[in-house]
Amino acid sequence: MPTTPTPDDAHVQHQWILTHPDTDRDDVHIELWTDDYTVRVTGGDGEDSEEGRPAVEALLTKYQSAGYRVAHDYPVNDPAPEPENTPEPELAEPDGRPDACPECGSPVEYEPTYTHPDTWGEGPAWLCTGCRWGRWITA
Ligand SMILES: [Zn+2]
Repeated sequence: MPTTPTPDDAHVQHQWILTHPDTDRDDVHIELWTDDYTVRVTGGDGEDSEEGRPAVEALLTKYQSAGYRVAHDYPVNDPAPEPENTPEPELAEPDGRPDACPECGSPVEYEPTYTHPDTWGEGPAWLCTGCRWGRWITA
């Protein structure tokens, strides 16, 4: 039994559909993708772009001045998250936290930017909450 394929619109952020009163003119579909710059035009003159919303605005102005009107204007997906919103992986606590300080037995805490008192080097370390004994983490 044939199945109807589901349109894959996960890459689409916003879609505009323009229609023309002359029924012999095809609808124009404009898509802005979630990368915020890819513009795909189906129908019309098919002027794909990578200029984002300014290109969409120019296309809407162009087609509306040619007699089209916006029949549908709706968001599909949120824009893709900016890469800088992802957590800094080097600040995550690695595996292997010692159960207790080997010097005094107090609990230890992770310090991603510890400055070693002897070498003055900076890097991740386990620090004792009691005696502040520090240990460099080695991969
Ligand atoms: Zn200690």
